[in-house]
Amino acid sequence: MSISPIFKKDLLAIGCGPSNLSLMALWVGAGQSGATILDRSANFTWHSGMQLPGAELQVSFLKDLVTLADPTSPYSFLSYLKSTGSIYRTLVASRYSVSRRTFEKYYTWTVKKLAVAKFNTEVVAITLGRDGFHVETNSGRYIANNVSVGIGKTPYVPNFDDPDRSRYHSSNFAEHASASYAGRAICVVGGGQSAAEIVEYLLNLPAPPATIHWICRRPMLLPLDDSPFVNEIYTPAFAEYFYSLPESARAQLNESLKMTSDGISSRTLEGLYTRLYRNSIETEDHTRVHLKCSCDILNVTKQSEGNLKVITRNKLTDYREEFNCDRVLYATGYRYETPAFLDGLASLLTFLPSGEICLNEDFSARLKTSTKARLFLQNAGVSQYGLADQNLSLSAWRSAKIVNSILGREHYTLDQESVATSFPLSQQGAPQSRKFAV
Ligand SMILES: Cc1cc2nc3c(=O)[nH]c(=O)nc-3n(C[C@H](O)[C@H](O)[C@H](O)COP(=O)(O)OP(=O)(O)OC[C@H]3O[C@@H](n4cnc5c(N)ncnc54)[C@H](O)[C@@H]3O)c2cc1C
Repeated sequence: MSISPIFKKDLLAIGCGPSNLSLMALWVGAGQSGATILDRSANFTWHSGMQLPGAELQVSFLKDLVTLADPTSPYSFLSYLKSTGSIYRTLVASRYSVSRRTFEKYYTWTVKKLAVAKFNTEVVAITLGRDGFHVETNSGRYIANNVSVGIGKTPYVPNFDDPDRSRYHSSNFAEHASASYAGRAICVVGGGQSAAEIVEYLLNLPAPPATIHWICRRPMLLPLDDSPFVNEIYTPAFAEYFYSLPESARAQLNESLKMTSDGISSRTLEGLYTRLYRNSIETEDHTRVHLKCSCDILNVTKQSEGNLKVITRNKLTDYREEFNCDRVLYATGYRYETPAFLDGLASLLTFLPSGEICLNEDFSARLKTSTKARLFLQNAGVSQYGLADQNLSLSAWRSAKIVNSILGREHYTLDQESVATSFPLSQQGAPQSRKFAV
């Protein structure tokens, strides 16, 4: 019987996405070693299913892995550009917006430079021992006092009778991007950025579909709100304020600010609108796009002829409609799910009504036992830290807080940056100490 090797680590990160890459870059930047990132994929990719031509990063490139916590770090996007000799050219070509592909290349460069990632390694179970967390993977066991879980979110597909619904989620779209759509009837479900990018892609094909049914629940295709005042929700000051509020107020705030994260970028909306307008006046032989808002899909079923029947209901008028199509593409988003590998710790964790694990201010799970070991959760606290928790805006700040917390000192200065809006901390919210610095 072969005994799997045991590796001891000071810091073990699970999931090699931007969240844990940022943590590692700042950990190494603080002069620390003894850390590893495990990832179940064969190699690093960043949302490869939506790396479509022209797709852009939706935030400033200064929201890279490190800059907002440590502008002098060698793991910044600007350091990457410098190393590839493309710093001037990128500035001229893209000013302040860069492509999603460029950022994926930057992340890949960081993975290589840090040299702490181990791929093809899936974490299957974690338990707590006297000497720290015991982490079991498909290729060995690890013991670590500090574990950071950053496994992203799970693609969500509604429970329709379409047997292929998971296969055609937007997270896999690139795999199907070169399929033949010529002359076909395609249904795209969703009212956010991914749906818009897929529709744009289909319209730009040399041999596009004959018909696109675009179904969304929102009352209209709504823009991403990145106006200046609203953008202050993507600052540490707002995250701290948000964390201090009672849970009901936090839920209300997230709902009312949703379009700062879930809307469609103005550039994409303008491009699509112009495209549809030109189609309507300039060419006879164009794709017919039927955009239906305020619409729920009641079901998608496979018919004996092999095509799909879609049944929709307008939420405002109750008008029901059926149409046939060749394929349904689901841009229906992602959901947070507590991973099964944490089942062994469930009795030690506290869960919120939102389903999230209850977190301390330093992003560690609040454990019901006394231990020095700490389990940090990244991109798993939207209901506790606000919408910024799920995007790139605060990942350097969050990582710096985690590094400071592990080191027990303020290695990275997290003094509040000034903001225009006043965000006074509430006395009623999370019961932990309200001091955020370490
Ligand atoms: C298409 C798309 C575009 C986006 N663009 C932007 C943007 O422009 N700006 C912005 O601010 N935000 C953006 N976001 C939101 C967010 O910033 C990204 O989703 C970001 O990738 C989140 O990083 P993460 O490290 O938390 O998770 P992920 O990037 O999802 O990485 C998680 C990693 O964990 C690994 N993993 C999962 N389970 C296990 C396991 N059991 N064992 C080992 N490894 C495991 C996965 O293989 C994966 O590599 C985008 C999201 C999407 C879907």
